Amino acid sequence: MANDDKFKKVISHAKEYGYVFQSSEIYDGLSAVYDYAQNGAELKNNIRNYWWKAMVQMHENIVGIDAAIFMHPTTWKASGHVDAFNDPLIDNKDSKKRYRADVLVEDYCAKIEAKINKEVAKAAKRFGDAFNKEEFVSTNGRVLGYQEKIDSTLKRLGKSLENEDLADVKALIEELEIADPLSGSRNWTDVKQFNLMFGTKLGASADSAMDLYLRPETAQGIFVNFLNVQKTGRMKIPFGIAQTGKAFRNEIVARQFIFRMREFEQMEMQFFIKPGTQKEWFEYWKEHRLKWHKSLGMGDDNYRFHDHEKLAHYADAATDIEFNFPFGFKELEGIHSRTDFDLSQHEEYSGKKLQYFDHEDNASYTPYVLETSIGLDRMFLAVFSNSLQEEELDNGTTRTVLKLPAVLAPTKAAILPLVKKDGLPDIAKQIVEDLKWDFNVVYDEKDAVGRRYRRQDAVGTPYCITVDHDTLEDNTVTIRHRDTMEQKRVKIDELRSIIKKEVDVREWLMKM
Ligand code: ATP
Repeated sequence: MANDDKFKKVISHAKEYGYVFQSSEIYDGLSAVYDYAQNGAELKNNIRNYWWKAMVQMHENIVGIDAAIFMHPTTWKASGHVDAFNDPLIDNKDSKKRYRADVLVEDYCAKIEAKINKEVAKAAKRFGDAFNKEEFVSTNGRVLGYQEKIDSTLKRLGKSLENEDLADVKALIEELEIADPLSGSRNWTDVKQFNLMFGTKLGASADSAMDLYLRPETAQGIFVNFLNVQKTGRMKIPFGIAQTGKAFRNEIVARQFIFRMREFEQMEMQFFIKPGTQKEWFEYWKEHRLKWHKSLGMGDDNYRFHDHEKLAHYADAATDIEFNFPFGFKELEGIHSRTDFDLSQHEEYSGKKLQYFDHEDNASYTPYVLETSIGLDRMFLAVFSNSLQEEELDNGTTRTVLKLPAVLAPTKAAILPLVKKDGLPDIAKQIVEDLKWDFNVVYDEKDAVGRRYRRQDAVGTPYCITVDHDTLEDNTVTIRHRDTMEQKRVKIDELRSIIKKEVDVREWLMKM
């Protein structure tokens, strides 16, 4: 399936099978805002839980909190968001469409990268088994030329953005002859900075109301609570504070379904460390987070690191874990070495000391921070898009199957009476009653059993359990596996342990 078609299929499947709906759809929707439906909410909970277990429960020195979305407005002065949380925007005068100037340039580079990949694929075909990709990309003149173009373009972009030289960003767009992807026009306005925070007001009367922001990241709720948690939890450095929660950004371009939303959820962990140890911890968390992703079995080749050229104002090192989405490799998670920037800023703006007394060194210091930050919605999209597959079957038909990692699947088993009579529904309902204490299960008696299997395949349910006339004789049922379609006869009392083995968080996290 071509990538564009695949992405369209993902969006329509998410709607048709009760995963994601456009927000306020009956009023024609609200741009870049989505609602999670009955299955989506379960999948989202399961992803959040898988993260929380791995980050909080499995680490003795990491605790979780749940800070409010509203924070004192000075927080955002201190964090730098009021002055620097901007994206460079550019408008096309003919199409009236608005773009992020940096994204236009990055997309231009992605097109050149696609050309490199084409050359590589051609050469691989030509040379067959003897092909050495590394040697080819480091010696082939055409590929080297393309790479040089990408490197110099991104370097110039990074430098101009760092120096706030927006005129040069526009000059770069003009020199590269970048056109509006929709209209083809090159009639651009100047590049301007645009602050991404949503403002709101606290309080009833107009004169006493206080200007607030909806938080654009969850991290600051952790920084301002650093000392409270450290003291009440008697935490010793190194230690981490984790949380999941909503964040809001008035994104300029938000056309990629739940990849870039205006209201989204983050799962973040700030790890407080001794200054000078940030390099080791940066490497540690890079590896650890990649292992977490790989434990879900979604294909090791679908991940790569992308180290940042242009560092945010708070960071001394940063990398992204990128995932191979239907529209290419894009950021899924950020890992940032944030130095003591945030705590020092909050010390300065609040006038309160946010230091740690190290008993071993008999000295106080402002800790450094290593952060892992992943978008829950982006993780949802990664899991969902990777799992959606069309399979050719031996009998010439195709089946649509959502091969979600079983640990994350919304429903773990569907219990199906073969027919709606002879007491079979009663037994099936009894199995539901029994299993529902441990797993999310459903009962389904409508349509022929083959159609019910297909429906559960499409919704991503790992097991279908069918009650038939033999069940009346010997208390056995047929259990069918979603991925292999293999069917086995098992005793009703074995069901719990069979399902548990497949869906237990422990079994999955042990793979890390
Ligand atoms: P991008 O470059 O894609 O805008 P970012 O570098 O601004 O992302 P961070 O501030 O590092 O993102 O946020 C951490 C994580 O939060 C990202 O890796 C991403 O998964 C998620 N995230 C950020 N912005 C959005 C958004 N608008 N919608 C959904 N998820 C988001």
